[in-house]
This record gives sequence, C-alpha cells and structure tokens, in this order.
Amino acid sequence: MTDNPRQQAIDYFRQLAQMGETVVYRPFESISVLPETTPAINQQESQEAIDVPSIDNFDKATDLNQLFKTIKNCHKCALGDTRTNFVFGVGNPNAQIMFIGEAPGHDEDMKGEPFVGRAGQLLNKVLAALELKREDVYIANILKCRPPNNRDPEPEEAATCEPYLIHQIKLIQPKIICCLGRIAAQRLLQTNMTLGQMRDRWFDYHGTLLMVTYHPAAVLRSPSYKRPLWEDMQKMMAKLKELS
Ligand code: SF4
Repeated sequence: MTDNPRQQAIDYFRQLAQMGETVVYRPFESISVLPETTPAINQQESQEAIDVPSIDNFDKATDLNQLFKTIKNCHKCALGDTRTNFVFGVGNPNAQIMFIGEAPGHDEDMKGEPFVGRAGQLLNKVLAALELKREDVYIANILKCRPPNNRDPEPEEAATCEPYLIHQIKLIQPKIICCLGRIAAQRLLQTNMTLGQMRDRWFDYHGTLLMVTYHPAAVLRSPSYKRPLWEDMQKMMAKLKELS
C-alpha cells in the first residue's frame, strides 16, 4: 500500500480495469480508466469478457471456443457440484462425423476430455482401422459432467444439458452423428426402442443424419459385439462417401 495519492489513484483505476470497467463517469465528462501503462492482456481479457455471451444466451455463441467459455462453469443441474472437470468435447470443429456418448466417466471427469478411458482407447483403435484419428472427428457426450458412480443420466439432467449439445452440433455441422450406445440414442431420439431396433437404420436429429451402434464399453464387456460394431462403422463410412 502506497501513501502516494497519484499511485493510489492509478492502483484504483487498475482494479476497475481488471473488473472489466473501461470508463468512469464524472458529472460532465468521462475519462478512460485504462492507464497507458496497463498491460495489453488486461484489455484483451476485458474484450473477451464482452465477447462471451451469458450462459442463458449460450445459443448466441458463434464458435466452439466461445460456446466452451460460455458454459464451462455451468451449474444448471446438480452434476455441476460433483464434477471434477467439465467435459466439453474434443476434435475437429469442422468434423464430418460426430460421435456422441451418454456422459463422462471417471477418467473423462479427471481429464476433462471425453472417451479417454479403456472405452476411449477402443474407439481410437476403431478410428485407426478406418484410417481416422480423433482429430479428424468430433467426440462429445450428452452430459458434460460426470454422474456420480457412473449412474445413468437422469432425464432432467439430460434435458438440461442437451441444448448445449444441439448448439455444438449446429456449430460443427457434421454430416453424420454416430450415437454410441442405447442410452445416448434413446435420449437423443426420444424413444424406448432397443439398441437392436435402432441399429442399421438412419434417423434425423435436428436435420443431421444419425445412426446408432454399440458403446465401446459394451464391446469391451461382450466381445461378440465387435463384429456388428465394425459393420456399423463400415456402413457409416459408405454413407459418408455417398454424401460427399
Ligand atoms: S451436466 Fe450439463 S447442465 Fe448439468 S451442470 Fe454439467 S454442463 Fe450444466
């Protein structure tokens, strides 16, 4: 703390600037509170804060980065209080294929990235067999926070979080959505159909083609699902070729 009134004033204006204020008003004029010596980073941060919509206007986000910043501190459902990390999604922002699972698990919660555990490693292998990498596709979940003990998402949680996913899809504009597992597919398609009934057909999800296949975790539990998963992946690639 300084006794110099001039320095005190500068410190005060700096604090205002860091809080996002760019002007202070006096009765007949306004003056800039950004001292010439204010580091550029403060101005940049202030600009970013202005650019990012409020969470209630998340659908105004114009790119994935902005959407991430808008919703990363979400606490609209109780999972926001128990998560370790918010799990937004990962991959190519212009991906032609988007994989969607139900929710982050333990490994994903720890790392803040979807499909990084054993199931994620299997997904990576499937992608490699298709001559794709994670960076070529986009990977996300319906929920962006982990349900405790990996329980299934509650309907209210999914209903609260799904609009974020819908906006994410709108920004990415994939040609195909590949739904991984029954729970994610039932939620997105608002149906009680079994996975067997949903496989091997095409659905429309908000204007995007959607197919359903086994969750890699299910394939790890039941290796007999490996072949149908692979067949589904080949059909997906054939459809993509058809659309190109
Ligand atoms: S699960 Fe979705 S709605 Fe719930 S707190 Fe996380 S981001 Fe928000």
